[in-house]
Amino acid sequence: MSEVTTGGGRPLNFLEEIISEAIAQGQTRVHTRFPPEPNGYLHIGHAKSICLNFGLAKKYGGKCNLRFDDTNPTKEDVEYVDSIKEDVRWLGFEWAGEYYASDYFNQLYEWAEDLIRKGLAYVDDQSQEEMRLSRGTVTMPGTPSPWRDRSVEENLDLFRRMKAGEFPNGSRVLRAKIDMAHPNMLLRDPLMYRILHTEHHRTGNKWCIYPMYDYAHGESDSIERITHSICTLEFDVHRPLYDWFIEKLNIFPSHQYEFARLNLTYTVMSKRKLLQLVESGIVAGWDDPRMPTISALRRKGYTPESIRAFAEKVGVAKRDNVIDIGLLEFCVREDLNRTAPRRMAVIDPLKVVITNYPEGKSETIECINNPEDEAAGVRQVPFAREVFISRDDFMENPPKKYYRLTPGGEVRLRYGYIIRCDEAVKNADGEVVELRCSYDAGSGHGSSSDGRKVKGIIHWVSAKHCIEAEARLYDTLFSKENPDDVEDSKTFLDHLNPSSLVVKKCFVEPSLASASVGEKLQFERVGYFCVDRDSAADKIVFNRTVGLKDSWSKIAGQQ
Ligand code: ATP
Ligand code: MG
Repeated sequence: MSEVTTGGGRPLNFLEEIISEAIAQGQTRVHTRFPPEPNGYLHIGHAKSICLNFGLAKKYGGKCNLRFDDTNPTKEDVEYVDSIKEDVRWLGFEWAGEYYASDYFNQLYEWAEDLIRKGLAYVDDQSQEEMRLSRGTVTMPGTPSPWRDRSVEENLDLFRRMKAGEFPNGSRVLRAKIDMAHPNMLLRDPLMYRILHTEHHRTGNKWCIYPMYDYAHGESDSIERITHSICTLEFDVHRPLYDWFIEKLNIFPSHQYEFARLNLTYTVMSKRKLLQLVESGIVAGWDDPRMPTISALRRKGYTPESIRAFAEKVGVAKRDNVIDIGLLEFCVREDLNRTAPRRMAVIDPLKVVITNYPEGKSETIECINNPEDEAAGVRQVPFAREVFISRDDFMENPPKKYYRLTPGGEVRLRYGYIIRCDEAVKNADGEVVELRCSYDAGSGHGSSSDGRKVKGIIHWVSAKHCIEAEARLYDTLFSKENPDDVEDSKTFLDHLNPSSLVVKKCFVEPSLASASVGEKLQFERVGYFCVDRDSAADKIVFNRTVGLKDSWSKIAGQQ
């Protein structure tokens, strides 16, 4: 029998297998949802979940909802709702319906009363501390609350008064009546509602009782008739509770499936920690390009295609693992290599004077825009007697196999002439401040009339024509592979990388004067860059998206 594969040729992942099997058994509908809590900006882990949920719906001709899991009013905000919608759309997905768990508060309340009437829920007056102590342990059963056997009438009365706002925060809760000795601690009479006199970003002050995640989530899935409710692995112990509510309420049977969450090296991913980075001012905001958020990756120059490709390469695992950040970088490099126009920019410049080139003369040199894409065409770059090259393209005492500029040595200026270094001019500290070179007038346009070849080709910009810009060179925000591993220190903040952002002055070719915010380029021999929104008319700011060197293929090749 031939192996079932996706369009891309890979075998089906376990979720696709489950769905394909269900379809073979006659299931006609696939409906997923992406359910963020609007309490922060989405990160690359969420991107994985988005690609998975929307991707499955697309693949099987189904639908995917966007549902805001907004049951925790103290931490949620419309700013987050708006950013989440922007990020999902930017990734290339459109939801079938936009829903809010808070839209279901009435229905959830009615169902809670149903459970009370069925003797399956009760109001508990114990304090939080008392409830914690009476829960028991993994090896010891819990003790039933003294309020566990209240009459249905009393429970209904108290629950309605909870809703009416008669009681202060923390004074009472509604609990499901399941089993205080259940081996799964989550089924020892879990909380369904707590009292919170807090304004909600959508329902205002209408409610002062709010449903707990476990009660709200499955019921929201059921209301939307979700067929495959996909969540991360840590929720597998919640699944029996998910099923219990649906069964006892006798409502549409949504099912929960768990996959391994995405973890990345050199970053933290929990929204709580990301919020801490923002609030403490360690980063400049949720979209600081060093953050693992979708908005930060976008600002840094990542494309939606590269993130979707990354999600596909990571695959869908059933066991937790950590993905090398190099894979994410590999994906954006691959995409930008195809699409990003090449430009010349010199960071850390060294002046070169071409002594035998006439003063006052200038010419233009034809440069290829993208060797990977013939349709991208060519552009004219001005050239004159003085150019800047990168400081590390010259060495006074070079090691073997250094093919760039050396005293007496030759290189070709990219697409231009061959030059020879005649003299390195130094300042009082012995630092090289200028190179005096001569050029071979017959070697223009990247090839020599006499067929002469040199090994080194370096990039350059004309000193007279170039424009000054700012280059923001990013490295990982943390210097430790797993910043959450805090055994040898106090918190993840002890592992911050002091050189996660290095700002450099640079000189770029004049064609970049008209570059617009978000535009993506390859600076030849340097890396991929994009124009930051901090750019002003008199100063363009470039973010380094990723360097050119690929560490990932090497790592992958060794495996
Ligand atoms: P965090 O722990 O970062 O706050 P969360 O799980 O609380 O994340 P939600 O807004 O509840 O954040 O997540 C929305 C959806 O995204 C959930 O279905 C969740 O399982 C999924 N998700 C969150 N983090 C990851 C991750 N690292 N990898 C894959 N999916 C994730
Ligand atoms: Mg969550």
